[in-house]
Amino acid sequence: MNDTLTEPRNVDGGEIAKFSELASRWWDRESEFKPLHEINPLRLEYIDGIADLEGKQVVDIGCGGGILSESMALRGAEVTGIDMAEASLSVARLHQLESGVQVDYRQATAEKLAEEMPERFDVVTCMELLEHVPDPASVIAACARLAKPGGHIFFSTINRTPKAYLFAIIGAEYLLHLLPKGTHEYSKFITPAELDSWARAAGLEIGDLTGMSYNPLTKRYWLGRDIEVNYLAHYRK
Ligand code: SAH
Repeated sequence: MNDTLTEPRNVDGGEIAKFSELASRWWDRESEFKPLHEINPLRLEYIDGIADLEGKQVVDIGCGGGILSESMALRGAEVTGIDMAEASLSVARLHQLESGVQVDYRQATAEKLAEEMPERFDVVTCMELLEHVPDPASVIAACARLAKPGGHIFFSTINRTPKAYLFAIIGAEYLLHLLPKGTHEYSKFITPAELDSWARAAGLEIGDLTGMSYNPLTKRYWLGRDIEVNYLAHYRK
């Protein structure tokens, strides 16, 4: 069989098609990506506060159009962004021409990059990606391999709780239309305990777990103790 015609391991083609279709709108702050633009300053501060991005080698796994990648580069990090949606990478590269922010964008999975560049990065970020892949444990293990010993690894995803079903699917997709219907699938949400067991199996140690909340009335996002819906996790290798 010709390898180039088969889907790489651990990639859901349906998910890549979904994001590719929206790709032209990555930098439209009023688009389907509005929530990612709005949470970006919060997660950037969180990451920079812990890992001190200035001068660091960073890889952003599932970078999409580069919202987080560019913002980390602006903090002085040397950023590589990888994604499997070529359409999103094209948008990311075009945007970088406009913004003048340097990021190295490549089409790859975390697993593939980890084979090529093991222990090369001070910081690995993997945001809003794990709930879109067939085998999240494999991505987590690849993130661990990419990090230097002592390196920082950040994940964000959605917890699998009734409250997350209500807020992240019913609220965000059906009532508030913040995200297209079908963006998220409840069964693919990940509890912090699952994330932690996969991370520990990959040789990572938890540093912090923080919730990310949204108030639909004030339209504000904030970081806090409620990890029942969206959450950020920090690990060290
Ligand atoms: N991390 C970005 C984008 C999140 S959207 C942010 O938080 O702003 C999820 C992204 O993951 C999409 O860009 C999608 O194309 C990408 N993706 C999905 N499966 C992937 C895989 N197996 N490997 C790499 N990227 C993947």
